[in-house]
Amino acid sequence: MLVLGRGSNLVISDKGWPGLAISFGPRFSTVEIEADGTVSAGTAVPLPRLARETVKHGRGGLEFFVGIPGSVGGAVRMNAGGHGSETAAWLLHARVFDLGTAASSKMTADDLEMSYRHSNLRPNQLVLSADFRTEAIDPAQGEERLREITQWRRIHQPGGTHNAGSVFRNPPGDAAGRIIDELGLKGFRIRGAAVSKKHANFFEADPGAAAQDVYDLVMEVRRRVEDKTGIDLQPEVQFAGDFE
Ligand SMILES: Cc1cc2nc3c(=O)[nH]c(=O)nc-3n(C[C@H](O)[C@H](O)[C@H](O)COP(=O)(O)OP(=O)(O)OC[C@H]3O[C@@H](n4cnc5c(N)ncnc54)[C@H](O)[C@@H]3O)c2cc1C
Repeated sequence: MLVLGRGSNLVISDKGWPGLAISFGPRFSTVEIEADGTVSAGTAVPLPRLARETVKHGRGGLEFFVGIPGSVGGAVRMNAGGHGSETAAWLLHARVFDLGTAASSKMTADDLEMSYRHSNLRPNQLVLSADFRTEAIDPAQGEERLREITQWRRIHQPGGTHNAGSVFRNPPGDAAGRIIDELGLKGFRIRGAAVSKKHANFFEADPGAAAQDVYDLVMEVRRRVEDKTGIDLQPEVQFAGDFE
């Protein structure tokens, strides 16, 4: 079974997915802001929308989500983060439905063992919604922070292209992009997929490229990095389905 969020961290095989895929409809797209500042968001809410809505209501903390094109469910599953923050730091609890036991439970960041781009959610566990704590802020300051983050992204990351964000997790104490760049691999290409010239940990697929092209590029860069540095980079991007 494959649970889909907004697909921003996924590369799905050219042969498709040989099983059940679940995606969440509009019923899971609501955002409610309670008097005490708790923000309850449905699993399908796009993260940039969550960042903007909370700021508009004078609630801060979730601004870092503005540059992450995933959903609330994907953010919980991946412990999405950036700009000095991460999902786990603001999550009060997620409502998780287990298809194996047909039971739903409220799980905290500790229950989910959230760490760098990791949670212990299994493929048959669905995040239905999440409650976040927030802090009171001046909406004008919040808007400024949103602008800073989007501007930073525009300068440092390739926008408007087919990519799935950071390809590899950063190894402890280093940055995957720096290592790949140092090996001169910016612009390195396999068929329809290339290492971004703007940020070496982003790989871009040409329109019409095969998922296999992306997979082959990821594996080749990983092999070259290990050969030259001994570091075995771990993909952050998830591959779903069959790849050769
Ligand atoms: C341009 C760009 C920039 C990015 N920048 C960042 C960044 O700064 N920081 C960062 O952390 N990530 C970043 N990403 C990666 C991605 O946006 C995050 O990992 C995001 O959290 C994935 O959310 P999604 O809804 O797209 O999940 P998907 O890609 O659809 O799925 C990712 C994983 O989560 C699971 N999943 C999705 N929804 C649910 C659910 N409701 N219940 C249970 N499991 C679920 C899927 O099964 C899959 O295992 C970036 C991606 C892009 C394309």
